[in-house]
Amino acid sequence: MQNIATTVMNNLKTWARVNSPWAIHFNSGSCNGCDIEILATLTPRYDVERFGIKLQGSPRHADVLICTGPVTRQARERLLRVYEQMPEPKFVVAVGSCGLSGGVFQGSYNIIGSIDEVLPVNAYIPGCPPRPEAIIQGVVALLESLKPPKE
Ligand code: SF4
Repeated sequence: MQNIATTVMNNLKTWARVNSPWAIHFNSGSCNGCDIEILATLTPRYDVERFGIKLQGSPRHADVLICTGPVTRQARERLLRVYEQMPEPKFVVAVGSCGLSGGVFQGSYNIIGSIDEVLPVNAYIPGCPPRPEAIIQGVVALLESLKPPKE
């Protein structure tokens, strides 16, 4: 009986998480190109709220960290602090070629590298910058992967 209750509770939590993820956005060194596309994704033209995705100001209430840019030496500590404040389970989405590989900033004296050199990344969205459709597709694919397998 307890197992059934636990399973139902876990399914309910997953359902709620998949249908209304709260996201926080962090620029770890981007040129702002990717950030502008993220803003377009969140605003009415592309309207990502129709998938229940809501921008959240505090990492303490966020499920998904959407991160842009390569990680600079200056931003590394802040990025880690934001990530550590998020409650479990938490997910990281790397947006843009710079976040995936360092991009055009690779080899620069003040760049550590890609986001996954600092944090575990769950979804990668390539492009310079990726269009809002690609960002939506990446986030929706991440949410789909969280759903329990169909029996
Ligand atoms: S991927 Fe392109 S748009 Fe995004 S931060 Fe890098 S250079 Fe800028």
